[in-house]
Amino acid sequence: MKLSYRCSSCKKDNTLKTKAKNRHELLMELGKNEFHERCKHCGNFTKKHINRLYAEDNYSLVLIGFVAAAIATILLWDLGFISSITFSVPIWFWIEMKKKSSSFNRTMVK
Ligand SMILES: [Zn+2]
Repeated sequence: MKLSYRCSSCKKDNTLKTKAKNRHELLMELGKNEFHERCKHCGNFTKKHINRLYAEDNYSLVLIGFVAAAIATILLWDLGFISSITFSVPIWFWIEMKKKSSSFNRTMVK
């Protein structure tokens, strides 16, 4: 999961990576409800509450789904039911991606 926050000094977005699926897991990972990061753009040291972090949509996952569907289409061309796979697989990946980011953004910690 890629999380982003806006630097309070230069107003540019920074990203950080985490294995946490929601803010509660992030809290466990950090051990506290604040994180300290140096801005990649201006070097300003920011201290933010983890509720200020937002999960970004990971479109690379959708791309993987699309490529997988394209390969399946070529391999299963003779079977005839491929067109439904081509369309449904990337959509399924897209739904999964949305579910992940929205479940992260929905949960708040104290
Ligand atoms: Zn900055």
